[in-house]
Amino acid sequence: MDTLRYIRSNIFNPISSEETEYLPDQVIAIQNGTIQSISPFGEHFGAWEDYRKCLLLPGFIDLHTHLPQYFIRGIYYPALLPWLEKAVFPEEARFRDPLYARHTATLFFQELIKQGTTFSVVYSAPFREATEIAFEVAQELGAQAKIGMTLMDIHSPEVLLQTTDYALKHSFELTEKWNAPLLSHILSPRFAPTCSENLMRELGAYARQHQSFIQSHLSENTDEIALVKELFNKDSYTAVYQEYGLLTPHSIMGHAIHLSDSELQLIKESGSSFAHCPDSNFYLKSGEYPYRRIKEAGIPFGLASDIGAGTSLNMLQQAKLMNYRQSQDAILPEELLYRLTLANARILELDHLLGSIDVGKQADLLFFRLPEGFSPAYQTLSQLCFSGDSFHLQEVLVQGRRVYKSE
Ligand SMILES: [Zn+2]
Repeated sequence: MDTLRYIRSNIFNPISSEETEYLPDQVIAIQNGTIQSISPFGEHFGAWEDYRKCLLLPGFIDLHTHLPQYFIRGIYYPALLPWLEKAVFPEEARFRDPLYARHTATLFFQELIKQGTTFSVVYSAPFREATEIAFEVAQELGAQAKIGMTLMDIHSPEVLLQTTDYALKHSFELTEKWNAPLLSHILSPRFAPTCSENLMRELGAYARQHQSFIQSHLSENTDEIALVKELFNKDSYTAVYQEYGLLTPHSIMGHAIHLSDSELQLIKESGSSFAHCPDSNFYLKSGEYPYRRIKEAGIPFGLASDIGAGTSLNMLQQAKLMNYRQSQDAILPEELLYRLTLANARILELDHLLGSIDVGKQADLLFFRLPEGFSPAYQTLSQLCFSGDSFHLQEVLVQGRRVYKSE
């Protein structure tokens, strides 16, 4: 049994999209990876560790990101389809080389931890071996993640193209092999234009039978949508996924920018969720996330970095951009914190373990040092969201174990 640690700090805890609990000057007790108690300092007796100059937040959760695009962040092509063809596909082809796959996975998971992301939902390259390597590296580094082998069995460059049998066989084997709650495989059809009807139908059937999580991309770009309608002869992009059974309560669709009311209704009825990627959406000029319509439709969503179209794994940057990239609605800090943490934990059905600072949950904790001269107060959450560069991520704990400490 680990020794009990007592940490004195100032806690920000997400409750909902409208509410954050602020608990100044608390003592949080941690043992065996979980939070044992939280109490005001005035009620504590005995020794404690001093983190009074810090804000204490739950670990961030990144709901959608691409490991093989780690090194191509910021390489610019101003639209989705040319960017995929010229920047993404040649880079992903390099992951046939196991050494390159290991090198990139190592730096990628190390960077996530350094940025305070303690759980991530990740696309791997379209190769079994590179995906196995991503899992091995995550395990070695103590990274918590859902990782999916990207699937593409039509309309793809030769070097990335899978047979349908390869895509299905290895997806199912990976799902059976990597199935721990905090490190598991996620079925990952890249997006409709690179997936055959047969592939999508078989994935949908398997996912329903095994309650497997699925991730994909939906209605990111108008050219992409036109292509999907043409390829599948359907009225809408959403109808394609619906037809092949990919919209389930365990489906997480990235982007969801250009959607009709009837498509939102289909998503709502399916129980699927969205990963909102504001940095990526404006980088590729894909469009503005229909925040108000999606919120009113009652569809769960959370924030995601989506690198390499997203430019950074820093989730505080995504939070700030979520606000900046709404032209009508002012997204408040309480909601931004929620979309980085508890909203995503709920979508992943891991909110009994992750997403907030509560007794019995994992001690996945971030200590942000206040800028010189600042005092902790309720408003410092807002300052962290909008002026995050001034705060310094001092330490990251995952299951109570220190995985990062700044110089
Ligand atoms: Zn993506």
